[in-house]
Amino acid sequence: MQQLKKEHFITHFSAENKPAYKVRLNETFAVETFDCYGGKITSETQLRTEVDIPFINPATGPIEIEGVKKGDILCINIQNIELDEAGVMVLYPGMGVLGEDVKETDTRIIRVKDGHIQFNSQLQFPAAPMIGVIGVAPEKGAVLCETPGDHGGNMDTRWITTGSKLYFPVFHDGALLALGDLHAAMGDGELDGSGVEIGGKVTLQCTKLAGAPAIGMPVVETDRAWFLISSAETVEAAAKKGMRAAANRFRAAFGLGFNDAYRLLSATCSLEISQIVNPLVTVRIAVPKAVLPDLFAPGPLL
Ligand code: CA
Ligand code: ZN
Repeated sequence: MQQLKKEHFITHFSAENKPAYKVRLNETFAVETFDCYGGKITSETQLRTEVDIPFINPATGPIEIEGVKKGDILCINIQNIELDEAGVMVLYPGMGVLGEDVKETDTRIIRVKDGHIQFNSQLQFPAAPMIGVIGVAPEKGAVLCETPGDHGGNMDTRWITTGSKLYFPVFHDGALLALGDLHAAMGDGELDGSGVEIGGKVTLQCTKLAGAPAIGMPVVETDRAWFLISSAETVEAAAKKGMRAAANRFRAAFGLGFNDAYRLLSATCSLEISQIVNPLVTVRIAVPKAVLPDLFAPGPLL
């Protein structure tokens, strides 16, 4: 199995970046990743405000996916996420939603052992590994790895995890996939501004959907639902964008007018928050598979 080393990474997603690696469709490969601080914070004496971190979220890649063309939908099977032994959670005044309540700057190194997070000597809870940053080259320009968008990037969506499938619109031949910023655990919202930030290794396999309808944004598939991942300036704007995409799928799949598609959306789908702390916020519209078995069905289902 190809092991793609973390030493080749990007700081922004862009079609201008030359591929560092090449994989084939259906090939299973492993990708090593740094934590969001590039592995520079390893002790509690290192404060985020004092360590020089020129860019956040280095993402291993770009990885050219052979045979994937502009206009395809790239499907990524997330087979495994292996975490390093310790993660980190920094804080400083102003960080996260309750930033004004943080009076001192400090750093916690948090060990992960046997699938559990050792929060302190008394408190532990199960790890829930996830990928914070994963994406393809955007249609235009360069997007910092800190920012989410229709190309993916810093989506901080906790269903991007082992056993899920992730779908991206492909804007450039080869897709130029990159990923990093693993979390050993993170709740919806990423409320203090970080997860348990950690390095590790992700095992993946890529396939492509040909002739599937364009959704225009990343989608995560789990056993129970499709999640349309929408990023924008505000939660409301992100919700509108994701809802329009879901309503359009209902119209096409079931031959509904807008009002009935909107009603079906309201009756069955949920607005969920991925993160509200990045330069753009990210929400997801959860579409139950019990309602729409195949989001990417090329023709009408009814
Ligand atoms: Ca992140
Ligand atoms: Zn992170």
